[in-house]
Amino acid sequence: AKKSGPGTIAFFEASDDKSARDRRALQRDLERAIDANELFLVYQPFLDIRTGRITGFEALLRWQHPERGLIPPTVFIPIAEESGVIHQLGEWVIRQACATLSRWPDRIRIAVNFSAVQFQNVGILQTIVQALTAANVSPHRLEIEITESMLISKYGSAPAILNSLIELGVTVALDDFGTGFSSLTYLRKVPFSRIKIDQSFIRDMLTQPDCAAIVKSVIGLAQDLQIGVVAEGVETADQLEYLRQTSCDEVQGYLIGRPMSASEISALFDRSSRQ
Ligand code: C2E
Ligand code: CA
Ligand code: CA
Ligand code: CA
Repeated sequence: AKKSGPGTIAFFEASDDKSARDRRALQRDLERAIDANELFLVYQPFLDIRTGRITGFEALLRWQHPERGLIPPTVFIPIAEESGVIHQLGEWVIRQACATLSRWPDRIRIAVNFSAVQFQNVGILQTIVQALTAANVSPHRLEIEITESMLISKYGSAPAILNSLIELGVTVALDDFGTGFSSLTYLRKVPFSRIKIDQSFIRDMLTQPDCAAIVKSVIGLAQDLQIGVVAEGVETADQLEYLRQTSCDEVQGYLIGRPMSASEISALFDRSSRQ
């Protein structure tokens, strides 16, 4: 707190205390959340622009807190990372995603998000193999989404673990592309299957020429590297049309579909297979 009158100091200290207490309370609640069945995954589709078909889904974690209601991952993931609960959360997400894959058509993949700290646990490799085996799911149907910041030296074992996963057949996507540092270096360290262009670029590409230039060059880069490219956060038909014209492979966003429950999606698959 800065010296701007006693009232101000008291105010800041009180609110800091409160938010620290809040975090600790949430941290404790999170430790029981898995066993209490308060966590669930929602799935948001990827659309192949050329074929017009759904190719897969990204699994996004949700927490239905008994008193506080629905808490978004942007709030509880950092808390889980801080306390280390992220390891259990991450393993739960992988097992859940594999079980869901076993119920969906073979052509469908599921992408799960990974936190950097999960790479500090080398056991993660075995967890993934076990989850795939238990669900009898082919490894190429599981994708891991990581961000550039996870490949910094602090998480030295990340590239090694990722390369082992890729040897198993699991694919890896580079998430939020363009928002981190020296992305291009990392493209050489890990054989990514896909780049996901961050939604901030998609949001502004039709109004800001520099943004459009970046989107076009990332799509070109992916093509030259012979890897896939996904545009995130597509909300309008004009954005989709622009991405079609620039030969983007896949799109994701509210225009294509909001995140949905596994059972809603299963019902859609069942209906289309009966037609
Ligand atoms: P992300 O991986 O970049 O996920 C994309 C976020 O954008 C999701 O928010 C999604 O619901 C939202 N989104 C999708 N389409 C649109 C759109 O058209 N417009 C806009 N404005 N937003 C859109 P969500 O579900 O709140 O997740 C936020 C972040 O939390 C994720 O960002 C990811 O970093 C993290 N997260 C979610 N689930 C997990 C998880 O299981 N493990 C870890 N480690 N992180 C997770
Ligand atoms: Ca993601
Ligand atoms: Ca993203
Ligand atoms: Ca993000």
